Amino acid sequence: MNAPLSTAMPIPGHIDPVPVPRAITPREDGRIDLIGLPKEEIRSYLLEKGMEPKQAKLRSKQLWHWIYNRGATRFDQMTDIARTMHPWLEERFVIGRPQVMEAQVSTDGTRKWLLRSDDGQDYEMVFIPDADRGTLCVSSQVGCTLNCRFCHTGTMRLVRNLTPGEIVGQVMLARDSLDEWPSQPDGRMLTNIVMMGMGEPLYNFDNVRDALKLIMDGDGLALSKRRITLSTSGVVPMMARAGEEIGVNLAVSLHAVTKEVRDEIVPINRKYGIEELLQACADYPGANNARRITFEYVMLKDKNDSDEEARELVRLIRKYKLPAKVNLIPFNPWPGAPYDTSTPERVRAFSNIIFEAGISAPVRTPRGRDIDAACGQLKTTSEKKSRAELDRLAEEKQAALG
Ligand code: SAH
Ligand code: SF4
Repeated sequence: MNAPLSTAMPIPGHIDPVPVPRAITPREDGRIDLIGLPKEEIRSYLLEKGMEPKQAKLRSKQLWHWIYNRGATRFDQMTDIARTMHPWLEERFVIGRPQVMEAQVSTDGTRKWLLRSDDGQDYEMVFIPDADRGTLCVSSQVGCTLNCRFCHTGTMRLVRNLTPGEIVGQVMLARDSLDEWPSQPDGRMLTNIVMMGMGEPLYNFDNVRDALKLIMDGDGLALSKRRITLSTSGVVPMMARAGEEIGVNLAVSLHAVTKEVRDEIVPINRKYGIEELLQACADYPGANNARRITFEYVMLKDKNDSDEEARELVRLIRKYKLPAKVNLIPFNPWPGAPYDTSTPERVRAFSNIIFEAGISAPVRTPRGRDIDAACGQLKTTSEKKSRAELDRLAEEKQAALG
């Protein structure tokens, strides 16, 4: 079943907001932001604005190169495009970046950016530097329509899909701040991308696919699909298409091995159960021993962390003959969260059982906890601000009345 994601799917959970489908956010000044548009679309916009077809073909290629390979944000930087043409482009187009509201650095080197879209929506991205790699954790939505009980993002009420430009824009901004233009395959700090920021990427399939295609394009940002991982909470009907149309590594937020526990902590399980999910993993195109599926498992004290559950996890992985590895994530707490983190001894015992069955089960070290940048801690202050805004408006109204 290939459900179109431009229309909202019914989603389990106690709230069911409808994400707004949109390809691009119209700008107030009427100019078109070229970020996030495929090469052919740039060409058709040039044609639409009156450029000759031959010119349009050449210029769209040049623009693409300047934008994605060189990181240009102004037309007057484009030295092989005639100077007389710069104002013409300037009047009609813009090369945007998400607005940075706040940038924070953790004591462990992790960086977090709070970003704002043209229409005033906030979302976050995180960069995690390691000795041999640098991973950018990219958001796919503002908030998330799902309500996994251990995840702070899931408590945000405001939800909208990010556009391809806003998704690619995160990578462009990271390259800007790491000073990594022009794009080159060697010696980069930003080597990997994980779609593990805010949002459920498979509930924003078209935009995520289009953005990842731009990110993987060899003439542009040129990141290999082997270095990109998409994480899903288990949107089963979209998994085959993700494999076929995007082809990146798959991570699945399993987090529990029984219906009872998974229904509670990952409510989408009430719609697509564990067995169905694991079958979709077994069918995932491109999964093999060299490209394993990652099962993410958040360790919640006395909820999902027993030896018996570790053994059941091994049994399930074997039953479906999955080329799998398990990532154990100690729960990252947030104010008011209904769970505790498993003890380090429990995490180790759980990991050992899986490891002894011949399945890799590393324990993830939490990164950037001090700046709320760790897995599941992303939640912008926009909600708080809009509440404050509402209060202020209420006060003003009151004052006007009396
Ligand atoms: N929506 C997608 C991707 C974003 S979440 C998904 O759910 O897979 C990235 C990972 O962080 C997921 O495995 C998620 O379950 C996990 N996570 C969420 N909240 C967490 C928390 N408080 N502590 C640890 N991991 C958490
Ligand atoms: Fe959404 Fe993923 Fe958080 Fe669940 S864990 S609420 S799917 S972001």
